[in-house]
Amino acid sequence: MKKITLIPGDGIGYEISDSLVKIFEAAKVPVEFETENAGLDVYEKTGELIPESLYESIERNKIAIKGPITTPIGKGFRSINVYLRKKYDLYTNFRPSRNLPGIETRYNNIDLAIFRENTEGIYIGEEKYENEEKTSAVAVKRITRKGSKRIIKSAFEYAKNNGISKVTVVHKANILKFTDGMFLDIAREISKEYENIELEELIIDNMCMQLVTNPERFKVIVTMNLYGDILSDLVAGLVGGLGVAPGANIGDNIAIFEAVHGSAPDIAGQNKANPLALLLSSIEMLKYLKLDDFAKNIEKAILKTLTDGCKTADLGGNITTTEFTDKIIKNL
Ligand code: NAD
Repeated sequence: MKKITLIPGDGIGYEISDSLVKIFEAAKVPVEFETENAGLDVYEKTGELIPESLYESIERNKIAIKGPITTPIGKGFRSINVYLRKKYDLYTNFRPSRNLPGIETRYNNIDLAIFRENTEGIYIGEEKYENEEKTSAVAVKRITRKGSKRIIKSAFEYAKNNGISKVTVVHKANILKFTDGMFLDIAREISKEYENIELEELIIDNMCMQLVTNPERFKVIVTMNLYGDILSDLVAGLVGGLGVAPGANIGDNIAIFEAVHGSAPDIAGQNKANPLALLLSSIEMLKYLKLDDFAKNIEKAILKTLTDGCKTADLGGNITTTEFTDKIIKNL
């Protein structure tokens, strides 16, 4: 049976991971979870933020699903998420968003996926002051042909595999001619390999306006690290917020699926957490594992549960995490 590393995280991570495990068991998904945790709770017990056994598990299984991990401010902890992305060269940040039944928003037909480059751009952390007085500072934005090619290719492959006829590349190449200019050129080159897929080019500021006025017209968006970071939260907001936003960090050999939200310390341990973001991430994980029938089955049960009006408090409903989980299981 396929083994998957389960990283519950902390805060509400335990509650939403429990929900995931119960639903997978009830749906008889042919996978086995190997639980290995990281973060503050582990550090307090073992003195290690990420135990060696977690790395070993990820490297053995090549696939993991992760709850949120608290990053305490000012304690010298680095973000575990960022660390794992770097260590395993998980260059695609995949963030699908769509309207769900029973979750009212201003839009009705949003169904789009953002491909954010996850390893380059302004996130490489090369910053310095330019003078001793520290009155001026610079940050390096690095774009490479290799890094751009592989993320743009991921986006086009996704479009091809899902019968989508347009990919939108987002940039600011009118100003950043070398960096964004290279990214845009590569998008143009790669689009030539896909006869039936149109490349749409949009400047980031225009894209923000278009996403707020007419988001339904986008299906696949590919962009650099910082623009992708901002746009993916913007789009999550359009469909109901971070509580329903799934995500994944995918490399050539290893993929880590995750809920996008944080550990929500304000509601942790109170049976109030919404497990949807992690559950929707798990559906993407099942598709990645080519367990499409199981993905569809769980998805159908979630949609039925939402259509019946069952929602946790963050979405304006009144049921608990465990009640929501039980309803999904009944609808399987
Ligand atoms: P947060 O996402 O944890 O919470 C923001 C608000 O949204 C809170 O009111 C919370 O109750 C609510 N919320 C979030 N997820 C919810 C869910 N599933 N169900 C119901 N309500 C939900 O953001 P924060 O408070 O800024 O961050 C808390 C901690 O999480 C910080 O230490 C931060 O560094 C960390 N964090 C981790 C990740 C990650 O591991 N991927 C991502 C973001 C933040």
